[in-house]
Amino acid sequence: MLSQERLSVAQECQRAWVEVDLAALAANARQIKRLLQAPTELMAVVKADAYGHGASLVTPTLLDNGVDWLGVATVPEGIELRKQGIQAPILVLGAVNTPSLVRAMAQWELQPTLSSPKQALIFSRHLDDAPHPLPVHLMVDTGMARLGCPWEQGLEFMQFVRGLPNLQIASLYSHFAGADALDPALTQVQHHQFQTVIHQAQANGIPIPRLHLANSAATLRDQALHYDLVRVGLALYGLYPAPHLAHQIKLRPVLQVRARITLIKSLATGAGVSYGHQFIAPHPMRIAVVAIGYADGVPRRLSNQMTVIVRGQRVQQVGAITMDQLMIDISHLPDVQEGEIVTLLGEDGDQEISVDSWADTLGTISWEILCGFKHRLPRIPVD
Ligand SMILES: *Cc1c(COP(=O)(O)O)cnc(C)c1O
Repeated sequence: MLSQERLSVAQECQRAWVEVDLAALAANARQIKRLLQAPTELMAVVKADAYGHGASLVTPTLLDNGVDWLGVATVPEGIELRKQGIQAPILVLGAVNTPSLVRAMAQWELQPTLSSPKQALIFSRHLDDAPHPLPVHLMVDTGMARLGCPWEQGLEFMQFVRGLPNLQIASLYSHFAGADALDPALTQVQHHQFQTVIHQAQANGIPIPRLHLANSAATLRDQALHYDLVRVGLALYGLYPAPHLAHQIKLRPVLQVRARITLIKSLATGAGVSYGHQFIAPHPMRIAVVAIGYADGVPRRLSNQMTVIVRGQRVQQVGAITMDQLMIDISHLPDVQEGEIVTLLGEDGDQEISVDSWADTLGTISWEILCGFKHRLPRIPVD
């Protein structure tokens, strides 16, 4: 059953909300930190509003529990954290190429990812008024074909940036394309290519203060991939990148999604439910209308394919999920009342619905589900 405390939190939220379990988040951060060998640092990746959890809500807890760095995707994401008074170093993982954003990064002390000599030049040229050199992070592409200069040109790139004014190399990094795969082959190739660039820097006397390579999967996979810093997103939020990486440490899901029953009604045999009558009552039924829909981030493709939890019991969703509401079959729960709480993701009693189960049904990944919850759902911290 849901605790009284949960119910009172919920009373303030009329229709639907996301609960963010800050105690679970803190525990996850400490568990991950325990995997690291000093002086390896922990970067919390809080891009995309902290994977839907609310960046301003989770960041203070992360910084109180061993997180040293923050990673965001965009300059506005970084500025939002600075405006909140966050002082930790912030790396912008996405690409920035325009003079106004370059100056904003210097002003707000955000550190860029650089992928090409051309991009490095843009930064160097537009930082002439900056009081000190901007720390920059050089990315090499070792097999992701996303950001980063081709690793074969890594040495040239490092030498080029070293010769530019207004910039100071803060790190060299790369990103894995398949660190969650069972087969380690691709990860090994990428790691080898990263090592080659490191050796070239050493052989040519280019000082690189910090090396980093690991996302959640690589962090859980192998300590040899940790280097000076690990960039962890998914695992902090309590999910495993793949089942075979789940044995290392115990993580607790941070996000739970709940909504209220707003109306209960009876249906006669043969009554159709929702748009297109994709569900027809096979017998007399009692259904409940729940105040959450696809505009809140419940994928419409889960229509007739998902269960929810009411009073600690599994309940089938029926009919097409609509923009703001969905229906559930409560025929076997005659006591359920309007105003009661429905759990779409998370725990109620001894039942639990995982983000991974939605991702499996939908043929996608848990990252996408987390990022799908919209701002219409308030994020409510629970402890
Ligand atoms: C998003 C991202 C991460 C975090 O990935 P997870 O799999 O969520 O841990 C790390 N590094 C880079 C470059 C990223 O873009």
